[in-house]
Amino acid sequence: MSADQKYVYFFGNGKADGNTTMKNSLGGKGANLAEMTNIGLPVPAGFTINTDVCNYYTDNDQTYPEGLKEQLLEALKKTEEAMGAEFGSKTNPLLVSCRSGARESMPGMMDTVLNIGLNDDTVQALAEHSGNERFAWDSYRRFVQMYGDVVLDMKPKEKTDNDPFEEALENKKEAAGVQLDSDLTADQLKELVAEFKQLIKDATGVDFPTDPIEQIWGAVGAVFGSWSNDRAVVYRRDYGIPHSWGTATNVQAMVYGNLGDDCATGVGLTRDCSLGNPGFCGDYLMNAQGEDVVAGIRVPLRIEETLKDDAPEAFKQLDEIGKTLEKHYKEVQDIEFTVQRGKVWMLQTRNAKRTGFAAVRIAVDLVNEGLITSAEALEKRRIPADDLDQLLQPIFDPKAKTQAQEEGRLLTTAINAGPGAATGKICMHAEDAEELFNADPNIDLILVRRETSPEDLRGMRVANGILTAFGGASSHAALVSRQMGKACIVGAGEMDVDYEAGTITVGGKVLNNGDWLSIDGFTGEVFQGEVPTKPSEIVEVLIHKTIKPEDSETYGRFEQLMTWVDENRKLQVRTNADSPEQAAEAIAFGAQGIGLCRTEHMFFHHLDEIREMILARDVKTRKAALDKLLPFQREDFQGLFEAMGDKPVTIRLLDPPLHEFLSDRHLEEQPDLGDKLATTLGVSLEEIKRRVEELHESNPMLGHRGCRLGIVYPEITAMQSRAIFEAACAVKKSGAEVHPEVMIPLAGFSTEFKNQEAVVREQAEQVFAETGVTVEYTVGTMIEVPRAALCADQIAESAEFFSFGTNDLTQTTLGMSRDDYGGFIGFYRENDIVPNDPFQTIDQDGVGSLMKIGVEGGRKSRENLKIGICGEHGGDPASVMFCHKIGLNYVSCSPFRVPIARLAAAQAAMADKP
Ligand code: PEP
Ligand code: MG
Repeated sequence: MSADQKYVYFFGNGKADGNTTMKNSLGGKGANLAEMTNIGLPVPAGFTINTDVCNYYTDNDQTYPEGLKEQLLEALKKTEEAMGAEFGSKTNPLLVSCRSGARESMPGMMDTVLNIGLNDDTVQALAEHSGNERFAWDSYRRFVQMYGDVVLDMKPKEKTDNDPFEEALENKKEAAGVQLDSDLTADQLKELVAEFKQLIKDATGVDFPTDPIEQIWGAVGAVFGSWSNDRAVVYRRDYGIPHSWGTATNVQAMVYGNLGDDCATGVGLTRDCSLGNPGFCGDYLMNAQGEDVVAGIRVPLRIEETLKDDAPEAFKQLDEIGKTLEKHYKEVQDIEFTVQRGKVWMLQTRNAKRTGFAAVRIAVDLVNEGLITSAEALEKRRIPADDLDQLLQPIFDPKAKTQAQEEGRLLTTAINAGPGAATGKICMHAEDAEELFNADPNIDLILVRRETSPEDLRGMRVANGILTAFGGASSHAALVSRQMGKACIVGAGEMDVDYEAGTITVGGKVLNNGDWLSIDGFTGEVFQGEVPTKPSEIVEVLIHKTIKPEDSETYGRFEQLMTWVDENRKLQVRTNADSPEQAAEAIAFGAQGIGLCRTEHMFFHHLDEIREMILARDVKTRKAALDKLLPFQREDFQGLFEAMGDKPVTIRLLDPPLHEFLSDRHLEEQPDLGDKLATTLGVSLEEIKRRVEELHESNPMLGHRGCRLGIVYPEITAMQSRAIFEAACAVKKSGAEVHPEVMIPLAGFSTEFKNQEAVVREQAEQVFAETGVTVEYTVGTMIEVPRAALCADQIAESAEFFSFGTNDLTQTTLGMSRDDYGGFIGFYRENDIVPNDPFQTIDQDGVGSLMKIGVEGGRKSRENLKIGICGEHGGDPASVMFCHKIGLNYVSCSPFRVPIARLAAAQAAMADKP
């Protein structure tokens, strides 16, 4: 880094050094403060210190690069000029704020310091200049408190710790006999400032710094340092934000929302981001400072309900600013503003976070309003594919909800901050929630708090829903749970939460930690006890058909969006389904075929017969058992073919090791099973036990499974093939179309594939001859072991299609058992050993490289080889995008992931376009 490198970017007086394209360097907040300045919106002047400085600070022992000091002082001078005030002046002091701002917003994860520049001298000047002594001393006491908490690290560390400043404040109010902070007089606030300073001295051994320049550097250091705090690191890991990005720091002139009754502060949205309804909305407080709104201390008012009456001029200005912003950014904005003596000042704008619900509605509405094109509506940043999941989220079963209402179990109604219904046991601390979840990942929890703070992130993540007593629709709890797609209700002011007693009291009822509670995040209703949930409206329309499509607006928008999705994507989307019911669901969600039918799932309904087959000592006995299985398999396949109509159906031959059907465990769990099998087969119990012993494997995933079974016992492959072709011929005879694709599992050698292919084709010929019906079919293979990928050219000489079985390919490439990796993957993720769970998101460098080799090799031998993926990764958006990039023809995933995979496929295709 050289001394003449630019680190500091000024904005003010209608002109800025930066603009909105510079997010990587200036962070989202800094880039947009610059952009808003440039488009003429009212922004208090200031400057942004870029992310290079953060990285330098982190890597160089909390020091700054050469030249930064001079640049900061120069930008401060310009800020003074723009605002007509002077930093540290004893007559007309400028105060500044210092806020973090990373490339992607990380709500509440990093630190902020307000009112920098106050000391015993400047506070007098501020009092005189503003004509409001109480305001000046209130600002000073807030500053000393924040400086102590943030810069001098006095924030409570444990859940049982108290904030010493809050304690002193409470004592002061009690002594003064007042309820609210705002009821304290200037003199009482003066005393508090002195007490706060003493608290700092006692806790840290240093005096509170009175030099405004020293204060700025302290605050800048704290903000850069907060990039590396635990909650920010956890957040980045969760949202895939690289640690190397760093944050920018924004130093900006203060404007005051707490100067009097013509002042206010608030956070707003240019349209609602919970359900996506149009219209400016948000929270505000008259005569307050910014942090009061999000901190949840006072329950804020709603902009759309009362601001028009409380501050009509400001409301008009805000409405116009909202329209300008949406037109300029072509996106719903989330803003922070302050009204100082009737004038609106913009402190921030950013693309708003929204629920999956709102994302779909807003994107579709913006197209219909002519602000964006239908292709733009599909952009990943507007609708992350995973967020579609929320439209497929549960709601309360209406009957159960009515019953809960009739039984008087409605406890209270508050702000509906995150849609979705959730039920679970009350848990009041994030740490406890995490502990309970670690002990039982299926546990249902509702996190109940007075308010949440970023420290609660871990608990929110594992809870089904979140309920808070304080806070508005833009509070931390609301923002974060919407982003997580969790049901959330905030501002339940009638509820008293007693952490010490572990109780919540509402409407005269007392509930304990661990009692069941249910929340309706669509309506804001809180119910005592468990209220069962039921599927989403889209699911009701598409799957259960209990709502007519034309009666659901939500479905209408979903449908419109999915039409655009299908116009834009290249990848086909199939489903993994083993039953006609699953197949029908998947088709309703838009699946274009079955990419994987695991035939062994059908066998679990016919365990007696399959066990007979397993225990057989010779081919004749085995065949006799297989003959009994044949009609069941035929019927199952016929059902699938009929459900799928003209769509392709890939049926995989038997894959798991035989001991999955019969092992010591089965004999132990069912004490009469051994005798029963012995009688059926006419052999001794010892013989049964001996055979079970033989089947045992030390390392079953690498044992006698996949095509190795069919090679050693070709009669199994023959029976399954016969069942497939008999079913296909029957369906074709009935006049319907049918497209079977027979898939050989776990082949690594081309000889393995050829061996099995021969058996399949022989059966096909026999069945066609017997029935007089011919069906077109293909025989292909799964690519599940590294050798298959490496020798794909040889395998593709015979195989007519490939399907990457990335579950097995991941386990065999990484040498990481898919059944046993749970023991360490959590630790690996926490410590950034792996960027993702490799069994959820394809390990692109490793497994992905093999896939590329497989694609290239396969298409070298067979130019138009059809290639898909049917591992769990087929429904993961990042993996779907990778599959598109390497040229696969389709992805296959579970039915409920189909819409998500479709959207991800469209987003992948659109990323190709210049
Ligand atoms: C795979 O290995 O990715 C696959 C789809 O097969 P299974 O999960 O049945 O082993
Ligand atoms: Mg597999």
